Amino acid sequence: KSYGLNELRKMYLDFFESKDHLRANSFSLVPHNDKSLLLINSGMAPLKPYFTGQETPPSKRMTTCQKCIRTGDIENVGKTARHGTFFEMLGNFSFGDYFKEEAIAWAWEFFTQVLEVPKELLYVSVYEEDDEAEKIWHEQEKVPMNHIVRMGKKDNFWEHGAGPCGPCSEIYIDRGEQYGCDDPNCAVGCECDRYVEIWNLVFTQFEATPEGEYIPLDFPNIDTGMGLERLAVMMQGVESIFDVDTIRALRDEVCKIAKVTYKKDPKTDISIRLITDHIRSVTFMTSDGILPSNEGRGYVLRRLLRRAARHGKLLGIEGAFLAKLVEVVIETSKEAYPELSDKEAYIYKVISIEEERFAETIDHGLSILNGYIEEVKEAGLTELDAEKAFTLYDTYGFPLDLTLEILSEVGLNVDENKFKAAMDEQRHRARSAREESNYMGAKETVYDQLPVELSSTFIGYEHLEGKSTV
Ligand code: ATP
Ligand code: MG
Ligand code: MG
Ligand code: MG
Repeated sequence: KSYGLNELRKMYLDFFESKDHLRANSFSLVPHNDKSLLLINSGMAPLKPYFTGQETPPSKRMTTCQKCIRTGDIENVGKTARHGTFFEMLGNFSFGDYFKEEAIAWAWEFFTQVLEVPKELLYVSVYEEDDEAEKIWHEQEKVPMNHIVRMGKKDNFWEHGAGPCGPCSEIYIDRGEQYGCDDPNCAVGCECDRYVEIWNLVFTQFEATPEGEYIPLDFPNIDTGMGLERLAVMMQGVESIFDVDTIRALRDEVCKIAKVTYKKDPKTDISIRLITDHIRSVTFMTSDGILPSNEGRGYVLRRLLRRAARHGKLLGIEGAFLAKLVEVVIETSKEAYPELSDKEAYIYKVISIEEERFAETIDHGLSILNGYIEEVKEAGLTELDAEKAFTLYDTYGFPLDLTLEILSEVGLNVDENKFKAAMDEQRHRARSAREESNYMGAKETVYDQLPVELSSTFIGYEHLEGKSTV
């Protein structure tokens, strides 16, 4: 049976609610009181204070569907079937309450009884030293040994510096040979799209000391994470996350605006998928009050938005188009994320202003960059002068990644350290210029022109990010 993405989210949360979990809304993408993280990247991240015991949870069992951003996966986006920079993570959590037996039993029950996934298609991995988990999968759930794989620390041990950590167990679905690769050893853990990791159950049972010792916790925790889009791929029997009902609606809109057809040309497809993915990140980030800037979260937003805009150009789209896509994101996701409708006008405004600003300079910037590329090639070099990359950034609003991306398409590079040095120097100059003129206020930005009632709630973030140098 095929289920829609919105339906699957509800089924999961209902299921864990029936197992006495408190259902909570997604937290903001902006971490709260957590300087270690730029953007929320897992269901567990906003709940960290409950795991460390810093704060008391409202319930010992919770379940959420959390908005996540992983810019670390940006290179995968559009290339693998399973990675987005934005995705939703379903999770059930135990704060010193239930442990492995229940976590495994419920995961299995959800897959095999609620969703009725055939058992033959399911594989699980356990940490190589976690005999206990293997035993539960095999003896309690009757998973045959040839469907249980032991894996090393890299994949199956969750640890982040000192603090709570522990082994994990992942659930994979075999999508069949047609998704496999040429590797004769292709099996669970292979990077191809055949055995897709869907759900990660983390058993936080140790406290890692700064000296690297693992001390067993008196009350171990459970932290699980399942990608909603990936689950939908499996349940809808489609090829990639870009074919899932809600995301497909967005992809179709991209194709409509660009007057192109999906699955006709691999190069075009990458741009279509990239825009589809990035606009989701951009919409959700904006709805959480992040504004485009040259630093921190604001830079991530700017980079994704400008990258999407540029790929729109590659597809031949003329004029502004992002707002039309935002509309589809809001339409398909607003039920689960009411902040999207609440801030609709504001989201359009921020994204349109940024798109317009980039449009003003992109053509000029691109022709300048093309000129640079000619020069470098004629000189027989492989590297563009970092100062020039900096000029593109400073004058034409080209994020470094964009310049690097365009350069890499023609086999060229930039010295990133030199680029950073140029940026630091410019910051330094700007600072002394400000001090000289005794300029007290932050630099005025284009976003100051937003209607007050729309922007006022977001001043906190602007403040947090420091100046927004538009
Ligand atoms: P992968 O190995 O496929 O990159 P991961 O091990 O990095 O995944 P986890 O950190 O274990 O992922 O996150 C839990 C779940 O979140 C994954 O099992 C997967 O279903 C989902 N997930 C992780 N990264 C992404 C992404 N970039 N896009 C969509 N879903 C994701
Ligand atoms: Mg990953
Ligand atoms: Mg993995
Ligand atoms: Mg994982």
